[in-house]
Amino acid sequence: MTTVTAAVARELGAPLSVQQLELDDLRANEARVRMVAGGICHTDAIVRDGIYPTPLPAVLGHEGAGLVETVGESVTSVRPGDHVVLSAAYCAACNECQAGRMAYCENLFAQDFGGSRTDGTTAFTTADGTRISSHFFGQSSFSTYSNVVESSLVRIDPSVPLEVMAPLGCGMQTGAGSVLNELRPPAGSSIAVSGVGAVGMAAVMAARVAGCTTIVAIDLHDSRLELAKELGATHVVNAAAGTVVDELMSITGGQGVNYALDTTAIPGVLAGLIGALSIRGTLALVGAAAPGTTAEFEIGASLVKGWTFKTIIQGSSVPQQFIPRLVELWKQGRFPFDKLVRTYKLDDINAGFADSASGAVIKPVVVF
Ligand SMILES: [Zn+2]
Ligand SMILES: [Zn+2]
Repeated sequence: MTTVTAAVARELGAPLSVQQLELDDLRANEARVRMVAGGICHTDAIVRDGIYPTPLPAVLGHEGAGLVETVGESVTSVRPGDHVVLSAAYCAACNECQAGRMAYCENLFAQDFGGSRTDGTTAFTTADGTRISSHFFGQSSFSTYSNVVESSLVRIDPSVPLEVMAPLGCGMQTGAGSVLNELRPPAGSSIAVSGVGAVGMAAVMAARVAGCTTIVAIDLHDSRLELAKELGATHVVNAAAGTVVDELMSITGGQGVNYALDTTAIPGVLAGLIGALSIRGTLALVGAAAPGTTAEFEIGASLVKGWTFKTIIQGSSVPQQFIPRLVELWKQGRFPFDKLVRTYKLDDINAGFADSASGAVIKPVVVF
């Protein structure tokens, strides 16, 4: 047992409370990580609010970055002293994992949202023995120390600052991977990114890396659109005017965009984007909506376009391969996601959640 300081989601919708907890002993497939930083992601907020059913109270956090202190006896991919970024956990044994599609692990829910180890135990308890859900995305990184499963551990170049790298584990990987791993736009193609929060900004930067020559950022906040231009958007559209489809058609000379990536998961936004797709265009959804949400698509006139709709999880990444590549792109100045980050102390974590919800900050990061 080790005493740690963690931010605990105690009740649905309520602010997190920063308190001391007991962390149990390491299991064979885990590493003890001393957390240096942890990004705040939209998924933390929706779990806190009960939209996904991880049992509360829980230690959330799924964009950790830190130093490996000790490793369990079966861990082979990291050693004490390694610098690691933490990503989503996967089982490594199901059909999808065996095929290298870890983002679509058949056991994703148990691995990432179950609130416990797969044997049912939790790593955290209060001093009086109350069970606190752990292993959120295999890591529960809103804690000074955590017992992290091996599949969540990504060893990175020790020369880069960990407090900057934290968001690579979820938001940056999701946005960049959706473009570079899944959509794979050819150089010279066009893409629209709807909603330029952290995931959308990562997609804009990745579209520039991929050589897209028309990159349209769509959002309601002019400040975000300005930043999107700095990061690679060739055009911006403020959706408040209600003319998104017309503007996309005009920007592409009436052709429509080859790719549209939606991070908003708003049914009307998705339905609208179909009207702005080119022939053989692809619309991809990466945003999370509440279970049961439906969207309506025009399927009459659009039939002849031969278009595709797909959903993408975690940028279809193998984190251990993709995140080190993003680190290299960052080092070369081609993926400058540090421009999205504002840091907070653990005691101020609720301010980070509030600034993310209001749109004031794109990527809040807690620094321990
Ligand atoms: Zn699996
Ligand atoms: Zn996330």
